[in-house]
Amino acid sequence: MNTAVEGAGQDEASPVGREPETVESLEAGYTGAHRRYEWLGLGLAALSMIGAAAGAWHHADAGVLVWFVAIVAGIAVADLVSGLVHWGFDTWGSVDTPIVGQLAIRTFRQHHLDPKAMVGHDFVETNGHNAMLSVALTAPAAWAPEVLGAGPTIFLFFAGLFIALTSQLHKWAHMSEPPRAIRLLQKTGLVLSPDSHAGHHASPHDNGYCVTTGWMNGPLDKIGFFRGLERLIQAVTGARLNR
Ligand SMILES: [Zn+2]
Ligand SMILES: [Zn+2]
Repeated sequence: MNTAVEGAGQDEASPVGREPETVESLEAGYTGAHRRYEWLGLGLAALSMIGAAAGAWHHADAGVLVWFVAIVAGIAVADLVSGLVHWGFDTWGSVDTPIVGQLAIRTFRQHHLDPKAMVGHDFVETNGHNAMLSVALTAPAAWAPEVLGAGPTIFLFFAGLFIALTSQLHKWAHMSEPPRAIRLLQKTGLVLSPDSHAGHHASPHDNGYCVTTGWMNGPLDKIGFFRGLERLIQAVTGARLNR
């Protein structure tokens, strides 16, 4: 276990003109309404995931190559989406931003101040939000596998499944003693490992944004993908970075 992942960074810059965010103030933003939203996300995701699995199974005879490409692409895209979303909430806005400020930015900022806090989150708090997001991918695969065809249906099921699993995989990367099977998967590089995630927890938290499997971190950081995206957004919108 790399200690860099466990160590809490207290050197965060606070947004101009407001009180500095603390672990306590960020944790206090977790409301009953948020909890109910997470339960709803888990319920909808479970139904949609079962439907999408049936949709993928409908194409069971699609051939090994189609299944392999669709599974790898689905997992890689889920990892990319985790990086884009994570980068977005780490880089722009604050806890005062409408809707996403409390729903998402709060949890990402809290995670930098206290990386170990998420280990104490239960199943609902860990997975509810991503489960809700996964429905956007699994629902089409559940409802229209015939229209979509084999590749897209299998792709959407695995992309949705791994988006739903993202925070769980991220949490396991922060645990000193994850389940034995997960530790094995981490060591093989199939899912996010503590070592590959450690870089993100060094200030200013501006690389290694992908937290599902971490497959995309190497290529994206190597080409300066997120710095380029920041320059583009700043040039077009004039928005200010707020890391
Ligand atoms: Zn982050
Ligand atoms: Zn982390």
